[in-house]
Amino acid sequence: MEKNEMMHAVRLNAPHDLEYCSIPVPTPGDMEVVCKVESVAICGTDPHIINGDFPNFWPDKFPLIPGHEWAGVVETLGDSAKALGWKVGDRVCGISHVGCGHCAMCMEGRYTLCDNYGHEEFGHRQYGHYSQGAYAQYMRTNVKAIAKIPDEMDFNVASCMDPLSIALHMVLRSRIEPGDDVLVNGSGGQGLMAILCARALGAGKIMVSGSGFRLDVAKDFGAIPINYRNENVPERVKALTNGKGAKRVFECAGTAVGIQQAIDSVAKGGVVSVVSLPGGDIPLPMRRIVLEEIEIIGNRANPNTLEKAIPLATQFEREMKRLITHELPLSQYEKAFDIFNGRKDNSLKVIMKPQL
Ligand SMILES: [Zn+2]
Ligand SMILES: [Zn+2]
Repeated sequence: MEKNEMMHAVRLNAPHDLEYCSIPVPTPGDMEVVCKVESVAICGTDPHIINGDFPNFWPDKFPLIPGHEWAGVVETLGDSAKALGWKVGDRVCGISHVGCGHCAMCMEGRYTLCDNYGHEEFGHRQYGHYSQGAYAQYMRTNVKAIAKIPDEMDFNVASCMDPLSIALHMVLRSRIEPGDDVLVNGSGGQGLMAILCARALGAGKIMVSGSGFRLDVAKDFGAIPINYRNENVPERVKALTNGKGAKRVFECAGTAVGIQQAIDSVAKGGVVSVVSLPGGDIPLPMRRIVLEEIEIIGNRANPNTLEKAIPLATQFEREMKRLITHELPLSQYEKAFDIFNGRKDNSLKVIMKPQL
């Protein structure tokens, strides 16, 4: 790469103000790599960042290059990154969080809860949220936020390792055991990926609440579909589990009704593991939660699950490819967002290609 080379990027200059622009290619710091981005997937969080739904937080200042679900090839790297074994030409996928590495939470391995969140001066990053992201031809990242992918994994699938590893964190945190009947509440990308994680971990019956095309995909992935529009989800779950309810519930719906439905579907002594982020606080049935020892577990992103998710995606290659419904050049980002936001044309994961 020549010095002062320029690249195309989609930059957010202010809420709702995206621009396809030409900016300098970044140069890597000591522990960083700069990768050629081959694929970047639109995340459900991205439109909220673009709309300014998290003022002074995601991002805390402008401009921001969004994008954190990506895959590509190492192009340049810092000396320490090199000493750690990273090489030009390595095929990698990325996640958004980099902990400071020094605080109590990072020392426990819980780096998505870093005490120095938002402090780039202490080494914290969250790419595509407040640190510069991957809607660009080149992505600069700390080596903590990447993993190598197998030669045979295509870049579109690899760009979905961030959400797959989030689904895996949620499923692992439920302490699922082989044979457990589970409910995946919500049939969007996260819900569909949770089905694959539950299958990999030996779940018994996998029930999924959702609707439309996405519920058909859930069925294709081996789940029992429950259409929440015309069925009572907790009643149906109980009917399928000898009246007991699901031992583990994975909440990916995010609405107040959806979350209450998730709790109403869980068995006595069961766990509701939550990855959805509701718009506000919602009332919870605390008497039942106490008397039936129901656990509700929140999950933030994907600490230490990226490497585990990669062989899982290889195992479920057909399903991962089915989740990817659209691929457009990065320059057509407006069309890509239109398809993604409008759930048009049975869209699930919409991939943008910065090199096209
Ligand atoms: Zn994401
Ligand atoms: Zn930290």
